[in-house]
Amino acid sequence: MSSRLIPAICAWGLTLGTTSLFFVFVCPALIDFSLLYTLAIPIYEGILTLFVLLNFGLATFMDPGYYPRAHEDEVKDDDFRAPLYKPVEINGIAVRMKWCTTCQFYRPPRCSHCSVCNKCIETFDHHCPWVNNCIGRRNYRFFFLFLCSLCIHMISVFSFCLVYVLRHKEDLKTVGNIVALIDMIIIGLLVFPVSGLTGFHIVLVSRGRTTNEQVTGRFKGGHNPFTKGCCLNCKYALCGPVWPKLSSYVPKHRTLSLDALKVKYSSANKEIKLYSDASTNGVKRNTAVVNQNGTILTCRKLNE
Ligand SMILES: [Zn+2]
Ligand SMILES: [Zn+2]
Repeated sequence: MSSRLIPAICAWGLTLGTTSLFFVFVCPALIDFSLLYTLAIPIYEGILTLFVLLNFGLATFMDPGYYPRAHEDEVKDDDFRAPLYKPVEINGIAVRMKWCTTCQFYRPPRCSHCSVCNKCIETFDHHCPWVNNCIGRRNYRFFFLFLCSLCIHMISVFSFCLVYVLRHKEDLKTVGNIVALIDMIIIGLLVFPVSGLTGFHIVLVSRGRTTNEQVTGRFKGGHNPFTKGCCLNCKYALCGPVWPKLSSYVPKHRTLSLDALKVKYSSANKEIKLYSDASTNGVKRNTAVVNQNGTILTCRKLNE
């Protein structure tokens, strides 16, 4: 088992463990059928727990927005000739795009290469060891909602456990009291780091920044070209579109060079044979564009 999985297993274990103990030992004792409003406790906690686990699962298992690496048949000459940075202007502010030597392309402005995943991620926030996944454009919303709902869940479970202990304080050695105290100690230790992190992300969302941009001081002393104002930033983070997977993108056109009269072109799942025209004798390089079915769309002569 990879050591990378240990923090994520701990996080899932603590969340499921403390929540299960609460539902099995503490929650049933809080229900009093003569007081109907107490029935709201398991309903409220049940919905909250499902919301926490759903967002936790999506943050853990969702593709964060991985960019596929440049395809083998894309022109490789760029690697040697191209400058390390390319300036682009976004909303009137100059932003640099850096060449990724691993993925072989210029990283879009908010993209960064994760050293753990060894891939470029769109709107990279950070690599989170607790979910064993990168947090990027596609799963940031679920990570943020997970943090917010986890804070509410922790405070709720702590409060209900406290109520339970105060009601049964005459004998603290019962199983219910011990379980409630264990849950309160675990939550008491974790609630401050989790709520601090949630507060940090609320500030980031309202300012339209990523953790990576904040930590590296990307827009220090300058304007952030990606902010839309506090309200629109929050709306975009919570209700914006879910972006499609970039890794499933397959280029429709492939370009290749012909150095002989007959070449074979191998794509991912099929082999295509191409024959150049007899009049191309003496021509150093021809470029043919083929579609995925192997049909030649254009054939261009170069260096004649
Ligand atoms: Zn990269
Ligand atoms: Zn990563």
